[in-house]
Amino acid sequence: MSEQIIENSKNDEVTWSIVQNDLKDDFKSIIWNSWVKPLIFIEYINFTLTIETPSELVKNRIDNQYYDQIFFRAKRVFIGLNKIRFIVQKDKTLHKTKNKQKLDDENQTLSSISFTDNTSKTLNKNYTFENFIVDKSNELAYFSAQRVWQEFNIDYNPFFIYGNVGIGKTHLLNAIAWNLKKHNKKKFIYISAERFMYQFIKSLKLNETIRFKDQFRSIDVLMIDDLQFIAGKKSTQEEFFHLLNDLMDIKKQVIITADKSPSNIKSLDYKIRSRLSGGLVVDILPTTFELRKKIIRNKISSKNINLERDIITFLADNIFSSVRELEGAINKIMLYSDITKTKLNISNAQTILADYLNKTHKKITIKDIQLEVSKYYNLQFHELCSKNRSRYISKPRQIAMFLSKKFTDASYPEIGKLFGGKDHATVIHGVNKIKVISETDRKVKQDLDNIILSLNVD
Ligand code: ADP
Ligand code: MG
Repeated sequence: MSEQIIENSKNDEVTWSIVQNDLKDDFKSIIWNSWVKPLIFIEYINFTLTIETPSELVKNRIDNQYYDQIFFRAKRVFIGLNKIRFIVQKDKTLHKTKNKQKLDDENQTLSSISFTDNTSKTLNKNYTFENFIVDKSNELAYFSAQRVWQEFNIDYNPFFIYGNVGIGKTHLLNAIAWNLKKHNKKKFIYISAERFMYQFIKSLKLNETIRFKDQFRSIDVLMIDDLQFIAGKKSTQEEFFHLLNDLMDIKKQVIITADKSPSNIKSLDYKIRSRLSGGLVVDILPTTFELRKKIIRNKISSKNINLERDIITFLADNIFSSVRELEGAINKIMLYSDITKTKLNISNAQTILADYLNKTHKKITIKDIQLEVSKYYNLQFHELCSKNRSRYISKPRQIAMFLSKKFTDASYPEIGKLFGGKDHATVIHGVNKIKVISETDRKVKQDLDNIILSLNVD
């Protein structure tokens, strides 16, 4: 047991070194050396990553200026990462006086309300249109994003991109920002919804809300990433809504990403939802097998790494929940071959990627699936297993059968038995039918996606 813990923490330490390595590309070397290199991994527990900094000064600087970038990189490889906590090496803090600390806090608060002068710092230089691989799952979002920065049009305002995590929303948002910078010389603010909220609350505390709002009025484009994290906080929502209305009224372009469509972010105020639905809303669908293969090939060729064909297929087959995880898995493999100089085969890939694979194949039961599907379609559990063939029941039933086949080891006859004694031919028919229509029918695909998300198997 304790060996297992030590093993995990060693793994996490390696993962942190991947993050640091990635950050090396993001920062100038002087910044990397003085601020990022000294950071030491302590633990990753309950989706919180704890990192030790050598001094209060470094901690403050990191928290204020580099948090987003570090979080951004870390989230790609620490699965489920929710927060990073920076702490100071204990012995050195003892010398700090309270007054000095207070002064630090105040300076930090005042200086960090301004976004306009440091937006470019939060952009990722790799997230460009050129580096975005297009296929049918994301082409709508890709081409609309191209349009939006080329021609501001009242019909695209706001422009809203939604889709599951790790699927390219932030990448497209960055790509738009880079092009705005390069071609149009438009002024923009690019900010995560979480950051927006944090800044806004700070401005309230300091009676600085007017200055806070004014910053947004002086720009041409406002980009907000991960809107779902703003949902629920009433006062911030209202503030956000006013700001949005004001901006769109004076013909500023608003671009937003979220994990769901505006109408499905339930906790969002209905006024905001309807205003957000009023522009151009596009989704990015789950990745296809082909896209995953292309992304893997692209990534390994850019790093000059050679992977056998069957490993590429293995990865594309097994790590399907997001591009981010796929990238994390590739990074881990690359680090492994770098350190051990061993040739990779399926069996050691399985060991190295155990974290990713276990998560993908978390065990769920047919009952779990049936309950989730009934809930999703507002059906009674017994209806799903009944003989009733009306469409509103038979389609969810087939969806539940399809998911049972996909996520459990049950055979067709076993599935049939648990669906009220259907024969195996009925199950095969249902599973195949959903397989085929999910390729073309966006609504079915989205439903599947939402259910899979609630089942927490991806
Ligand atoms: P999201 O914002 O939807 O959670 P990101 O935009 O952060 O996801 O994407 C996660 C990672 O996957 C990023 O490193 C991004 O560059 C990469 N990625 C996503 N989609 C694509 C794509 N179509 N082509 C290339 N890279 C992609
Ligand atoms: Mg994102």
